[in-house]
Amino acid sequence: MKARPLIVSDCDGVLLHFIAPFVDYLREVHGLTLRMDSFALTGNVKQADGTPVPASAFPPLLDGFFADWMHNQHPIAGAADALGLLARECDVVVLTNIAGHHADRRTTELARVGMPYRVIGNQGGKGAPLRKLLDEFQPSETIFIDDLPPNHASVATHAPHVHRLHMVAEAEVRHLIPAAPDAHARHDDWPAMLSHIETILKGKTP
Ligand SMILES: [Mg+2]
Repeated sequence: MKARPLIVSDCDGVLLHFIAPFVDYLREVHGLTLRMDSFALTGNVKQADGTPVPASAFPPLLDGFFADWMHNQHPIAGAADALGLLARECDVVVLTNIAGHHADRRTTELARVGMPYRVIGNQGGKGAPLRKLLDEFQPSETIFIDDLPPNHASVATHAPHVHRLHMVAEAEVRHLIPAAPDAHARHDDWPAMLSHIETILKGKTP
């Protein structure tokens, strides 16, 4: 079978909104506030009196969000259309840093909003799981999309030939996330990202 290109995309902040629904969840379910004064979730989540919630309280909050509130994560504009077009010629996998037991729900939620792709729940660096996908798919070309610079660094280390694209689709954190020196280019909206990917694929596909 002829090798196809492989698109490996992050989910939060690339395919689905995370910040706005997480702020809503914290307020409505826990009476907490989150103001993105810096690019950190822990420390910026505060009780009504302004006291930050301790770091140890953060993992259960995130777990509760994914368990009870994931259906409020609306799609990033243009993501479903762009991936739908790319999926005609490419394999598409969503590589997301989410606990394994939430990955099934994420698969369902993404499909519900027009993104019916395989979802892999990961923890930590994305370079090693991406290498596994390269072994499995043997793609003609691979494109990696993520909003967090350390994930680009991890992929650059483990799979340097992968084309790495930085996208910060959520306006709320765009000014807080630093440049990703290990990414080849940055596009913060899907029409621009799609056009960049199409150019790459045209150049490399025989
Ligand atoms: Mg992300």
